[in-house]
Amino acid sequence: MVSETVRKIEGLLSEAVDLQKDCVKRICVECESPCCSRVHYLFNEKDILFLKLSGRKSRWRRELFTRKGCWFVGDQGCTLDPGSRPFICHTYICDNLKMDMIRCDSGLPALLEGKFKIIGEMRSQLWAEYLDEKI
Ligand code: SF4
Ligand code: SF4
Repeated sequence: MVSETVRKIEGLLSEAVDLQKDCVKRICVECESPCCSRVHYLFNEKDILFLKLSGRKSRWRRELFTRKGCWFVGDQGCTLDPGSRPFICHTYICDNLKMDMIRCDSGLPALLEGKFKIIGEMRSQLWAEYLDEKI
């Protein structure tokens, strides 16, 4: 069921954010070339479907994106709540961040990878459930 899958994805995303947050705080604030300032429009159709079905605000319209760097990056980092970010923003872990994770807990990258795999599968499931409900 769509609403149940949305809730599960939200829960897993929040777990993934919690697992990364200490390393992100330590490494990303010191980063000299933040990934968020090197990208542009990152939302794909699965992100948008998830955002719509989870009742989040429609801030992802492509026409808003006219300057270099992500529209949502602010002085303190990302201005979107974690659940509203494109999925790739959760899964992208640069080498520096990964090295810090390994320093803190060598099993952390694999743990995160496992969670991202499940979230990816659930995002595909959400598509199928959404289309089935439309029939
Ligand atoms: S993920 Fe890597 S590139 Fe992106 S802000 Fe953090 S340290 Fe910088
Ligand atoms: S949505 Fe947020 S985390 Fe993703 S690139 Fe933009 S500022 Fe960075």
